[in-house]
Amino acid sequence: MAKIRDDLPAYDTQVINAIRQEEAGTIQGARLIQAGELVAFPTETVYGLGADGLNAEAVKKIFEAKGRPADNPLIEHIAKKSDVRQLWRRIPKQAQSLMDTFWPGPLTLIAPKSDRVPDEVTAGLDTVAVRMPQNRTARALIAKAGVPIAAPSANRSGRPSPTTAQHVMDDLCGRIPLILDGGPCKYGVESTVLSLVGEPTILRPGAITREMLAALIGEVRVAESILRPMKDGETAASPGMKYQHYSPNAEVVAVIGSPVNTAKRIGALYRAAEAEGKTVEIAATEQTKPFYKGMRHVVLGDRNEPETLCANLFSALREMDERADLILAEGIPAEDEGLAYMNRLLRAAGFHVIDADQPE
Ligand code: AMP
Ligand code: MG
Repeated sequence: MAKIRDDLPAYDTQVINAIRQEEAGTIQGARLIQAGELVAFPTETVYGLGADGLNAEAVKKIFEAKGRPADNPLIEHIAKKSDVRQLWRRIPKQAQSLMDTFWPGPLTLIAPKSDRVPDEVTAGLDTVAVRMPQNRTARALIAKAGVPIAAPSANRSGRPSPTTAQHVMDDLCGRIPLILDGGPCKYGVESTVLSLVGEPTILRPGAITREMLAALIGEVRVAESILRPMKDGETAASPGMKYQHYSPNAEVVAVIGSPVNTAKRIGALYRAAEAEGKTVEIAATEQTKPFYKGMRHVVLGDRNEPETLCANLFSALREMDERADLILAEGIPAEDEGLAYMNRLLRAAGFHVIDADQPE
């Protein structure tokens, strides 16, 4: 884990409402980006922490502000599709139809990098990840800056990704000059990352699912480490995979199984932990909330709408983390968008999973 720099200039972090004042906010943001400074901005996935993606010194500041390990590469964000040409050495054969169908949107594509992309962005890899966001403020900021914007999520490294400007403020206040507030993010989980080097492979699941990609380009593989911890000595296809991401301070346990068994097991675990003097919170669903009367819980949404669970997961983890020693979170089948939900939940839980359909 990179050290959080405490000798950084203490910024008087400004927040601009980018819905009401989009023009003023993006002009000021673009000036800062051009001056080699950092700007947090909304996207449809999570808030990003951006720097001039062609300026190595500016990009280094991202790693310092977040405490991000230097071997975890960033995504370059562009405002128009043709901008990939300055970032990729060549356009892989499946890329054009993917860009035409899913850009702007929550899909990141990886291909061999051009010489213009600094090694700081790619952590020394010879490939670079690129995405064209859908969010208007994000695109206006990139277009006005006139350069690709390299950006990871705008959280302190290891914390759940930020889905509101307040989350960014909580993590980075005083460490960056500007936050553009675009309201809560639409998807709430980071983009799908698809590598186009060799067989198309999903390195990180997101709102654009394997099924949607396969319908367009044929077979798409899913990296094995999406639902399990990295093994010792294994090389990560995507360096981000090896870190225990999205982690609250409280202990998190994921409970999977049928809704009734899940709720019963969570109830039993809750009472046992409370008897030990722990403060417990439950990440519940619409279907199971009647089981949790008298227990502290947050309803993430309908079990049959994984996109809603995704949209609320990080924000609920941050909220529950303020009160709880233990968070008991319901799992769902890891299919379609449920794969993105389970990928984030299992990482938050450090892969501590209880199967409620199995006897205790
Ligand atoms: P974040 O910036 O927090 O959304 O993280 C970006 C994710 O994309 C991380 O999991 C990175 O490891 C992954 N990533 C970025 N660039 C590459 C690359 N060139 N090859 C593989 N994974 C990448
Ligand atoms: Mg991140």
